[in-house]
Amino acid sequence: MSDAGKNGRRDTKAVAAGRRAEWTGPVVNPPIWRGSTHLYPDIETFENSKSRNADGEFFYGRRGSPTQWALSEALTQLEPDAHGTVLYPSGVAALSGALMTVLKPGDVLLVTDNAYEPTRLMASGLFKQFGIEARFFDPLDLDGFADHFCDRTAAVMLESPGSLTMEVCDIPALASIAREHKAVSLLDNTWASSLGFPALQHGCDIAIMALTKHVGGHSDLMMGSASAGKLYYSRLRRTAQSLGHVVSPDDAALALRGLRTMPLRLDKSTASALEIAHWLNQHPAVSRVLCPMLPGAPGHALWKRDFSGGCGLFSFVLSDADTAARARFIDALQLFGIGFSWGGFESLAIPYDPKSIRTGTAWPPESWGDGEHLGIRLSIGLEDPQDLIRDLENGFAALEQI
Ligand SMILES: *Cc1c(COP(=O)(O)O)cnc(C)c1O
Repeated sequence: MSDAGKNGRRDTKAVAAGRRAEWTGPVVNPPIWRGSTHLYPDIETFENSKSRNADGEFFYGRRGSPTQWALSEALTQLEPDAHGTVLYPSGVAALSGALMTVLKPGDVLLVTDNAYEPTRLMASGLFKQFGIEARFFDPLDLDGFADHFCDRTAAVMLESPGSLTMEVCDIPALASIAREHKAVSLLDNTWASSLGFPALQHGCDIAIMALTKHVGGHSDLMMGSASAGKLYYSRLRRTAQSLGHVVSPDDAALALRGLRTMPLRLDKSTASALEIAHWLNQHPAVSRVLCPMLPGAPGHALWKRDFSGGCGLFSFVLSDADTAARARFIDALQLFGIGFSWGGFESLAIPYDPKSIRTGTAWPPESWGDGEHLGIRLSIGLEDPQDLIRDLENGFAALEQI
């Protein structure tokens, strides 16, 4: 593989990234190098290997093999300004691995109040055991953000758009304030991925993705990644090695396969999501459509300014329904499955109500009317959007039944 493709534009890069001839051999994809033991030709090489710890060197299964190296190199090439990428067995493992890299006892971690729920739980649960204090902040209150820092603040955990409620925040501004306070900024960039939001270029120090979602893309794989510049990459790598994080070569091969078609899948699901969001937006039983790609929706201006792509994940709020009606709505859907995760080829719908989990901000926002808090999150897959709209009509019909 020549370097030409690696300098190309988004789609070209997604095809070319990570395909070193020394790893693929004469075939297109790197073979699955399954193995724990790596054999050494003699004792001298064996002894010398102990003081070596560079990327792309055989050592032992825990440091990976060409299949995993090809995936991390591909992800690095797709993340502008990244020096390297560490792979983790899930998105949550990537979050914990990255946070444990930059935090120590006594530190304060600022966490966006719209964070993915397991991130919240990790920050206020597991990390508390290690003497780390989590404080939650309103991601939309840029003016108030600096007030949250103290001399113990070591890191800021960001996410945009936020899980479930989809607020887009001003990442470049927040990351720059974090930097002024000498705090490391980490971004959970699962929604847009590096293809839609170049996190490091926008000022973040560590870009995290649940590869389970868009990169896998077929609902058959769990994996996570953290990409960073030279300093944080080497620290991430050391922590991951200490924690024993490793991903299987079979899963790495699946992730690489997913990566090749990811731009196509993202474009298709983004276009379908937008079509469905437009349709929902004029529906009388819908009070809010929380889809940053939709003109006029909350966060659209910032999304347009900072993002070069979207995805199929968004949510909407029912006008005046109770939880039983919402359950009837979702149960009536035939094409949408009910389940966690997203970013697969198949569409999903789940109910959500963040009212009970937020601590740093009120939900629903004070400006919203009473009863406007029962949300439904949709992950739009690769089906025909008109079929999905017909399916949602079944849901609205079921709202009326008692
Ligand atoms: C799913 C998800 C994760 C976690 O990924 P897993 O692979 O399921 O552990 C992290 N962040 C966000 C925003 C997610 O949606």
